[in-house]
Amino acid sequence: MRRIINAFTNISLFGREETKSGDVLLENAVNSPDETGIWLKFVVISDTHEEMAKIMNRIPDGDVLIHCGDFTNHGDEERVREFNDQLAQLPHRRKVVIAGNHENGFDAQFYEKAKLLTACELLNDTSIEIEGIKLYGSSWHTMNYRLFSTPPFYCEPGEETREKWAKIPDNVDILITHQPPKGFLDGRYGDVELLKAVEARNPKFHCFGHVHGWLRGGEQRENDFHQRSSVQGFWGISSTRPPIVFYFKVPGS
Ligand SMILES: [Zn+2]
Repeated sequence: MRRIINAFTNISLFGREETKSGDVLLENAVNSPDETGIWLKFVVISDTHEEMAKIMNRIPDGDVLIHCGDFTNHGDEERVREFNDQLAQLPHRRKVVIAGNHENGFDAQFYEKAKLLTACELLNDTSIEIEGIKLYGSSWHTMNYRLFSTPPFYCEPGEETREKWAKIPDNVDILITHQPPKGFLDGRYGDVELLKAVEARNPKFHCFGHVHGWLRGGEQRENDFHQRSSVQGFWGISSTRPPIVFYFKVPGS
């Protein structure tokens, strides 16, 4: 059975309401789940662009922190270290991060740069499992905005992205990408192949960032998976939106 939540309600400008269905509970960062079983609290941020210091006191406590990429502007080592130090100060038991198109060097020298991030688990077309909940993270995007080079994790839309998204496991519970899917909170920068891949996998949650400031975007399709189960992490520089918070029931609990 497809279990969905209404992320749009949660991040709407018109107020935040709690919505729940099945084993996913999205809430307003204040209430707690009153269900039986064990629930993990997930907190999602994105695109903090070296501005984490300004938002540290606005990040709610939780079990798992997810960052959907672009934690730096250029991937400078000093800034990566700073981000790592900030992550280390946060109380979440697990911190899951993907790189974005601003993290220079994270694709070509992924393992070297990844070593700087000791306070989190960096996903790069890889999965982790947290108490039976399956997460998968991927940084690919289709935004080619440079004149003389391509940004990290750039992918030609079409065949190339199709191959990248084909790696997403069928049984993923929480999908983390940097790029939005086509038509949802994407400012027309989303990828249609990602949309197809997500709809085929049907994860319980899809978190992404990349396109700043789009509370709503693209085609507003009623009754579509993404209409109800995707969130865009908030932009640390100027957004007044709080981080997205949701609870996920530990399987079998
Ligand atoms: Zn980006």
